[in-house]
Amino acid sequence: MADARLSLPGFVTAHSHAFQRELRGRGAGGDFWAWRETMLAEAARQTPETVRDAYERTYRELRSAGYTAVGEFHYLGFDEAQAAIGAARAAGIEIALLLAAYERGGLERFRQASVAEYLDQVERLRATGARVGVAPHSVRACSAPWLAEIARYAERERLVLHVHANEQPREIEDCLAEHGVRPIELLARTGCLTSSTTVVHATHASLAELDLLHEAGAGVCVCPTTEANLGDGFPPLEALLERGIPLSIGSDSNVRIDPLEELRELEGMARRQTGRREVIPLAELLAIGSSNGAAALGIDRWPGIEADLTHRALHGVSEKDVPAALVFSCGADALSG
Ligand SMILES: [Zn+2]
Repeated sequence: MADARLSLPGFVTAHSHAFQRELRGRGAGGDFWAWRETMLAEAARQTPETVRDAYERTYRELRSAGYTAVGEFHYLGFDEAQAAIGAARAAGIEIALLLAAYERGGLERFRQASVAEYLDQVERLRATGARVGVAPHSVRACSAPWLAEIARYAERERLVLHVHANEQPREIEDCLAEHGVRPIELLARTGCLTSSTTVVHATHASLAELDLLHEAGAGVCVCPTTEANLGDGFPPLEALLERGIPLSIGSDSNVRIDPLEELRELEGMARRQTGRREVIPLAELLAIGSSNGAAALGIDRWPGIEADLTHRALHGVSEKDVPAALVFSCGADALSG
């Protein structure tokens, strides 16, 4: 028998909140905002010790599902950020710690007293040798002066910048009321959109906002299983693809951990929206799941994985068709790191 394994690039989850794995199996309310209350209660009880233990377990789960790099969008505090990095090292997964800036709202533990304090935290984390990105949490959590200051720092230090935007309609209404522009327009105005920027979700982005992303060379991280779970809506896939905006995937809440399912959902949504098939060519879909995510995190090297050609779900599939069969017909148990 020929080699029974097929080597592939490791998958990359460019957006993770590992502590939300603890919400698995819980109903957590009737809409996004009700779910958020449960999520905040879970966030409140975290300590460096719980992060160190639970994140290592979650990262091992990511690793066994074929993810070999993670962008941890972290807003639980500085000591917990260091614990998350330690957990990733123990689990053997590459990590970019995307340290969240949180000026207002949320829990007190999320917040820094000033943008200077936030940037000091970033510097201290970088001094440990960790791979760090900046992450103004959202236009909800950061004012325009914070966004502008963080954008200047990211550009000067050549760091990636990740930010949540346009996940829920209410966030857009609030931004319009406060600033007179939509969230991605505010990000553009404050210098936050560059080719090192990843906007997470962009579910309700307008076409004009997508044009801004395109002009800046910014990317979008979509998190299909989490966005489905939370009732966020459908990302504007055809418009994103038409503009050539680089996409990546995130396991986000980690309630479901399966990169193949994220990609299947992504292409499935694109097919439903367009009434066509093969909307995202297979090679591009696999890049969305791997190299695009690594680029979004500033990661050059990350471990590869293998598909188990003897897995029952691949029985009868010719070797050349295995990548497509993985995406459309298999769960992550057909993969190993
Ligand atoms: Zn998120």
